[in-house]
Amino acid sequence: MSVQQDDLQRRGIGMTSQRTRERLIQRLCDEGLSNLEVLDVIRRTPRHLFVDEALSHRAYEDTALPIGNNQTISQPYIVGRMTELLLADGPLDKVLEIGTGSGYQTAVLAQLVERVFSVERIQSLQERAKERMTELNLRNVVYRWGDGWDGWNALAPYNGIIVTAGAKEVPQALLDQLAVGGRLVIPVGESDDQQLLLIVREKSGLAYHTLEGVRFVPLLSGSLA
Ligand code: SAH
Repeated sequence: MSVQQDDLQRRGIGMTSQRTRERLIQRLCDEGLSNLEVLDVIRRTPRHLFVDEALSHRAYEDTALPIGNNQTISQPYIVGRMTELLLADGPLDKVLEIGTGSGYQTAVLAQLVERVFSVERIQSLQERAKERMTELNLRNVVYRWGDGWDGWNALAPYNGIIVTAGAKEVPQALLDQLAVGGRLVIPVGESDDQQLLLIVREKSGLAYHTLEGVRFVPLLSGSLA
């Protein structure tokens, strides 16, 4: 983990007041997020660097925003919620993320787990995300341009897997790549009826937990330059 707290904070300040960020954190608490470590990472991660400059004044609203290619940066609440669910059973060393997108969820994870393996199907989005991560000095992430339906088998198994796009069904490859004791957090369903699932691989088999209704862009197939 390469937490550069001062650095993150220094680069983050200027664009938006600390007060705007505190308001967001207060809102996330009101909405039920309770992991202080996760909240603290969200507080100091400069979300305005992950959206176009034209939208940066909205970066600390609790809302998804467009990032180009018909994709969106996830809402801070959902980033916090999914991260809390992943970490609820203790620290994780290897986390697979499907859907790098802007890299915002990646940046939050990178400050809380040892290593992140992030797969994205749209190469140009991933390249931009990589630049932002370098700028923030977050170096414990490796990236793959490809189809997340296949996971990343060469480096499996993972203690945590997070999918940031809505899947019609849980990809079998991701279940196969989950370590015993590992946790998979994934939105599943049709676009207007998705549920957030937590799937835990216990010694005796897979345990499914349905959590809450969510709305994500779809998990598509294939890859795109
Ligand atoms: N966590 C990202 C969310 C981006 S939106 C953020 O906060 O910015 C979902 C992302 O999943 C998009 O970038 C989309 O291109 C990607 N995606 C969709 N289907 C995919 C697939 N099969 N494999 C990998 N990435 C996929």
